[in-house]
Amino acid sequence: MRSTLLQALATAVILLVSNAATAFDISGSKWLRAKADFYVDMEGISGTQISWNDAFIAAMNAWSEQSIFDFTLVEENFDPCLFDGRSSVDFAANYCGTEFGSNTLAITVRRFAGQTLGPNRITEADIIVNDSIEFNVYDGPLVQFGIPGLDFGRVALHELGHVIGLDHESSNKAIMAPSIGNLFELQEDDINGVTALYSGLDACEVKLLAFGASSNGLGGNDCTVRELTVGGTDESFLDLYQFQIGQATDFEFNVESDVLDAVLIIATTDLEFLALDFDASDQCGSSLKTSLDPGSYFLIVNTFDEPVKDDCGVTGTYKLRADYSASGKPSMGTSTSLLGSTNLARYSGGISKDGGVTYSNVFTPDDSLQIEAEITTDIRHRGKDGFLVVAALLENQILMLNEQGEFVEVGLNPDPIVRFASKPLQAIEPLSIATDLVPGALGIDEIEANIVVGYGLDSDPQDIFYHLVPLNLTVRPLVSGGG
Ligand SMILES: [Zn+2]
Repeated sequence: MRSTLLQALATAVILLVSNAATAFDISGSKWLRAKADFYVDMEGISGTQISWNDAFIAAMNAWSEQSIFDFTLVEENFDPCLFDGRSSVDFAANYCGTEFGSNTLAITVRRFAGQTLGPNRITEADIIVNDSIEFNVYDGPLVQFGIPGLDFGRVALHELGHVIGLDHESSNKAIMAPSIGNLFELQEDDINGVTALYSGLDACEVKLLAFGASSNGLGGNDCTVRELTVGGTDESFLDLYQFQIGQATDFEFNVESDVLDAVLIIATTDLEFLALDFDASDQCGSSLKTSLDPGSYFLIVNTFDEPVKDDCGVTGTYKLRADYSASGKPSMGTSTSLLGSTNLARYSGGISKDGGVTYSNVFTPDDSLQIEAEITTDIRHRGKDGFLVVAALLENQILMLNEQGEFVEVGLNPDPIVRFASKPLQAIEPLSIATDLVPGALGIDEIEANIVVGYGLDSDPQDIFYHLVPLNLTVRPLVSGGG
């Protein structure tokens, strides 16, 4: 994030500015999602007997059909000068009280909201068309014998380009050229501009969030805020972690680092920024507690574009902890297999200390734990002879649950694999991994394990089907005073 934004964000200001769009620098400003409602209900008809409405709607449809941006038509008239959250178009004698310039055909007014990362986003864009200009509707060259007036259709295309977030294009053939000309249809450059503006996520690697502890770093080839948001000047690095939840969940995220001044951000997967911690304390790390509704999210580990604290930098390694607590079992990710076979198995599971009232991943040695999982097998595997497996991945060890219900240590590639059960596979396979497990009673005060469940077929026992997000179990003594 921008180091200069620190002050404004500390007071949680959402800034709103408006801008007359006769000439824009490259800003990267865009709508949150590549779509907008547009209110259109103008009076009148052109000399060629095409209504202004039809010409404008045709221009909206051209953008929707040819680019990745989608306009939704709402056939109602609203004053485009009103800052009312409705993007609209109309003719007027002046631009909201100000005279039009002598050559101005139309003006697009974009209104913005400040964002945690990247350029301001567009929240409303209105078009005011100069009604002292003689317009008409026609294809082809701008000047044609026998057709008075200027083509309104290409003016609409151009102004709608500004609505989408495009700026003027001077070097390539484009409807977004600074002045009106013989082009009357969208050009390749216009379409490519929209794609570039709304495809920032494609430039960044998205990792799956692993709950519990993990290590990573910022720098080198990591994505930058400018790349992610396609615009602005923020060159700070970021890591993107995706996670999914099926029920309201409380999260606690922590980044520890001796070198990296970390910023933590939660966003939806279409980059609506929801929560932020840039850590005003003396330390380099950052922590963020938040509650999220069911959905798909990014945890973004970011830093600053310029160092803010004397003892912390803007690149370097960090340790991430991601902890949760919810009334339902967490998502265990999509299915995969050791040999890469496509399959549609599904997995759920959780660890509870209160008989299934809540599920979380952090416990104390005295808690009595219930660890359970459930596999919905791929329909093609049902009824076949197979087996179930449960693995616990520790820092330097792999344990597998045997048929007696004991975790036994195995090597990196156990062969044959330790089976928890051998049986014809059912549609639903519940796995009771542990009940009334008190870590302290087993002499365990502190441990971190990632539990993975899966199954295989006797016909191809090397190929184990399992899930991408392990079930994290962290046991640690209660720390008084918190931290
Ligand atoms: Zn323009």
